Amino acid sequence: MTSDCYVTLFGGVGKIGGNSILVEDKGSMILLDLGKDFDRYGRFFQFPFTMPTRSVQKELIKTGLLPEIKTSKRQNLSLYVEYEGSEVKEPSTGCPLQHVFISHPHLDHSGFVTLLRSDLNINMGSMAELIFSSNVETRRDVTLENKLYWDLTKKDECKPRQKILKFHDGMNIEADRLKINPHSVDHSVPGAYGFVVESPSARIAYTGDFRFHGPAQDLSEKFKEELGEDRLDALIVEGTNMNFGRIGSEERVERDAFGVIEKSFRLGNKLIIVEVKSSDIDRINAFARVAKSLDSTIIVTTRVAYILDKIELSELKARLKYGVPKLKDDVRVFTKGRLTKWEKELLDRHQGMEVLDAKAITSPEKKTILIDSGRFNVFDATPQKGSLYIQSVSEHLSEGEEHEEERFLNSLALYGLVVYRLHSSGHASPLDLIEFINEVRPRMLVPIHTEHPEAFHEIFKDNMNVIIPEKNLPITVSS
Ligand SMILES: [Zn+2]
Repeated sequence: MTSDCYVTLFGGVGKIGGNSILVEDKGSMILLDLGKDFDRYGRFFQFPFTMPTRSVQKELIKTGLLPEIKTSKRQNLSLYVEYEGSEVKEPSTGCPLQHVFISHPHLDHSGFVTLLRSDLNINMGSMAELIFSSNVETRRDVTLENKLYWDLTKKDECKPRQKILKFHDGMNIEADRLKINPHSVDHSVPGAYGFVVESPSARIAYTGDFRFHGPAQDLSEKFKEELGEDRLDALIVEGTNMNFGRIGSEERVERDAFGVIEKSFRLGNKLIIVEVKSSDIDRINAFARVAKSLDSTIIVTTRVAYILDKIELSELKARLKYGVPKLKDDVRVFTKGRLTKWEKELLDRHQGMEVLDAKAITSPEKKTILIDSGRFNVFDATPQKGSLYIQSVSEHLSEGEEHEEERFLNSLALYGLVVYRLHSSGHASPLDLIEFINEVRPRMLVPIHTEHPEAFHEIFKDNMNVIIPEKNLPITVSS
């Protein structure tokens, strides 16, 4: 039977990250995710030394970083604003695509949203929107992606340019003839979603990024059960870890963290620096619990404090299994250098909160755990030898990042810091993926966000139609 339903992948094809997927049926269409492809980014720019700052056309479109989204009939959609170093220009032509859905706020799924024209309906989960906006608001660089988040016509006030619509679990959202159901899943950021899209001709699901070994694993299990109830015509599944599994869980990270931190303190060290993503709230909670049980002071950088504060002030805190550590009561804030506007406002909101500076790092009086969302610069403030550095971030490095990592580890070794890596992946392990796909039993399987789509083909080809996707090539989905 012929079908009018098409799925086209414009990123995340044979690689991890940069997802963007167009789903269309008889002229109705939605875009799922619009992420940054960090490998490709590294071919033209070396952040923070060079970055796109002036021209959407010359720096982002010509380089192929911003995908040119085309319909199955090869109609080019004018989705992005133009900017040529002065003002934002909205496209003069209309756009048949009106709805964009973002699975979660990691930049490889959401990093180019700020380039979209202002009249689109951009949909994100409430928590995802909070984290996405906090990330942009606290960034110091002037990339186009950050600049165009703001309404540049409002010179005196900081107002976002786009309107973001917020969804939550179980909602039924209609976009022309398509119906979209977001489903919460477990991932290394709260508020991550998979989607079910019902079109007149097919039922499709997209997992976003997900796993089955974090504190919200029951959400991923529920997603699996619901997908299994009614047969899917196509499943677009992430496969970051398909070729390589590591045993690990968030619980185990916390246990191991307790073990090494307790021993380090026992050996006379007073400072632990933990590198963790500011959006990885579960992980931050885990280290806050460890700090508490070891009776040590916990400090967070202003960037981490900003997100914790925003969650605390929103009604979303109640939706997190463990809430968030409270500024002033549970954590103190670490500052360095001159304070930016948002940092001043944050500290003003928390008058009386203890604010620590470099002295807490160079000569800590008490047992101290610093949670840092970036790489610590030992040349700036040098910790005493024997201080512990815990790297608790993803092990996936983009092309060219290996040298940066090596230079960083060299600097830690030079000053006698003791380095440990404690991490559990934000993505499903190979066996969990296989179990998921076997139980969901889609008619068609489209692997995305993986370097090994051929592994999916080999494993599942006898039971379903496995498509090894090609970038920009529409896939027909029939029921
Ligand atoms: Zn992710």
